[in-house]
Amino acid sequence: MPENEAPRPAPTTPHTPTTTERGSFTYAHCPCGWRGPARRSRDKARTDAAEHTSGS
Ligand SMILES: [Zn+2]
Repeated sequence: MPENEAPRPAPTTPHTPTTTERGSFTYAHCPCGWRGPARRSRDKARTDAAEHTSGS
């Protein structure tokens, strides 16, 4: 397997999403590469993160 890109996260990479505020929006993102939609509510972004970590 060629090593021409950044190493992929291992399958065991924990999903530890954090929320980032960007202007008046907040979105959740995760080390696995997932990023939630921008939300106007931080609670909504946290809900997105919780749904992501639930593995659904
Ligand atoms: Zn993730």
